[in-house]
Amino acid sequence: MKITEIKLYRDQVRQHRGEGRTFRRIAILARRLADRLTHRKPDVRLSEVRAGAHVVDGTRPGPDGVEIFTDEGVTGSAVNYGGGAFACGVIEQHFRRFLIGQDAFNIELLWEQMYRSTMPYGLGGVTAMAMSGVDLALWDLMGNALGQPVYPLLDGQTKESIPCYATTHPDLVSHWRDSGFLGVKIAAPWGTADGRAGLLKMHKCLENCRGAIGNNMELMFDCYLSWGIEFASRMAERARECDVKWYEDPLQNGWAEHMNAELRTRINPIQVAIGNLDYDVKAFCAILAARSCDVIQPEIQWCGGLAAVRRIAAMAKHYDVPVIPHGAGVYNYHFVQSNLNSPFAEYLSVGDGTKVRPILEAIVGEPRWLPG
Ligand SMILES: [Mg+2]
Repeated sequence: MKITEIKLYRDQVRQHRGEGRTFRRIAILARRLADRLTHRKPDVRLSEVRAGAHVVDGTRPGPDGVEIFTDEGVTGSAVNYGGGAFACGVIEQHFRRFLIGQDAFNIELLWEQMYRSTMPYGLGGVTAMAMSGVDLALWDLMGNALGQPVYPLLDGQTKESIPCYATTHPDLVSHWRDSGFLGVKIAAPWGTADGRAGLLKMHKCLENCRGAIGNNMELMFDCYLSWGIEFASRMAERARECDVKWYEDPLQNGWAEHMNAELRTRINPIQVAIGNLDYDVKAFCAILAARSCDVIQPEIQWCGGLAAVRRIAAMAKHYDVPVIPHGAGVYNYHFVQSNLNSPFAEYLSVGDGTKVRPILEAIVGEPRWLPG
């Protein structure tokens, strides 16, 4: 089954109000989607990118649509919120030339070709995001061709259902108490820049959150790279009182694996969760080899797609580090279902942060977590 065409869509991916029906595959219904999309001009030139408007678009997170066509009429689609116009440019101006004519089932080979061909200007970032879009569309295509959901094509079913934690705002955690979610994660409102006052405010925030959710749920918080090792270490004794499960991204990323390894030893038993702001599979290798995390969190739409996260998971397994993908949505659910070493998933509380809603509404039939 040969790839004959790749179409890219951006900016016009409207939020389809599909309620969470049972899904059979990574199910972007391209035909229906196409009605809501404007076919992106295939010839965005560098001069246009430099001109301004496309730069703004390029830094916007999307979502973008990728649709792959074959000579047997089977198509695959993905909605990706990484890379914007720049990722579309990589696909259109570079990947396209060697994807056309290839066997659409050879995902591992095609992924490796994309990876190696972008080494001079890639190794993460926009190129990894572009690879994610192609990879996810190819998995969708394979599911369509075989009439199968994607998780059996990965490694099959590993659990009856997928437990989730909810990411929300500190002021909203009470909405999630006794909701069936295993825990809540909040964004830390204060960090190193706030000094001692920040420590005290952060402590109060954690106490309030723990009080709001009671003792039956886990409590995690995301530091968004804004804590130094001193702030994180001094916060630990306060966080332990509140039975915090993990710090997420406490330190600057990028060559920080040894600092995170040092922090792990200081804040025990609080865990270190990192990875969603790394984009190249080799960065995950370095993180794991340095024993710098307890939980690793690749973002499937940013790090190269399912082929990439499977490589990361294969490494993580032997360090006994669970893989909890960043964010939420169908791509994460299919991976978590198929990966034994992914005991639960994140649910990102989009909208007003108090209810379960579809994450990528352009995807028809996104499964939603339902109590009971
Ligand atoms: Mg995060």
